[in-house]
Amino acid sequence: MLKRIDDYSKNLPVLELYTAVQSEGSRQGYPTIVVRTTGCTHRCYFGEGGWCDSWYTSIHPEKGKYNFQDIINMYDKHPHIKEMMLTGGSPTMHPALVNELTHLANERDIFITIETEGSHFLPTDFPIGLLSISPKFSNSVPVLGATTPQGATVDQKMIDRHNKHRLNLDAIKKSIEYHSDYHIKPVLDKDLTMVGEVEEFCKELEIPDHKIWAMPAGDDRESLFESYGPVMNFVRDRGWRYTGRSHIMAFNTEREV
Ligand code: SF4
Repeated sequence: MLKRIDDYSKNLPVLELYTAVQSEGSRQGYPTIVVRTTGCTHRCYFGEGGWCDSWYTSIHPEKGKYNFQDIINMYDKHPHIKEMMLTGGSPTMHPALVNELTHLANERDIFITIETEGSHFLPTDFPIGLLSISPKFSNSVPVLGATTPQGATVDQKMIDRHNKHRLNLDAIKKSIEYHSDYHIKPVLDKDLTMVGEVEEFCKELEIPDHKIWAMPAGDDRESLFESYGPVMNFVRDRGWRYTGRSHIMAFNTEREV
């Protein structure tokens, strides 16, 4: 018996709840309701690319402020929206919440995309529509002595914690088999430094080219502009798929967009 939420008025680890247009991956262009959970097993640091762009849910997690009824109310208020982007942080840390959302999705014909780094396999009563998996490669490991967004210093404990669940191939394999669909969304910088690791990962899991959506690195307009061209050209020649990040182009570093 999988866990459910029985009290819809109880505060949940949901930090953000808003409407947007999906701007990444194979569902881009759909109006969606974003459910952003807080808490993450990882501590991603991408060197020049900066810290995790939702560090307020991971490295310095803020407290959740919405309950399940709030999520239902959002769909009642926006009946034209039949999509959900379940993101974080790491939503798979919250099995009862994710499972309850699959019930809501099943009742209302809502398509769920879950953004996950793939560290945990999470069965649900109804399979999730799309796993959008962004595996964390070696360029995500925090560097000893670096300063976090709120001024802490990276120590070995933080590095070990990050690496503990990183690239959990078994969990990713099981998740792909269990849920309805998936794609892999690797982030590539302008020098394409991670391509070798991504190729190796995809070979190991037998992931076909059309399931790989390469995304340019950068958490603001300026840095994205640098990687857009090289990543597009790479995808053109390699035969993967390409996804931009239009929400950053449109709204730069604003939150809840
Ligand atoms: S896994 Fe995702 S949410 Fe967690 S620290 Fe890394 S980039 Fe941020």
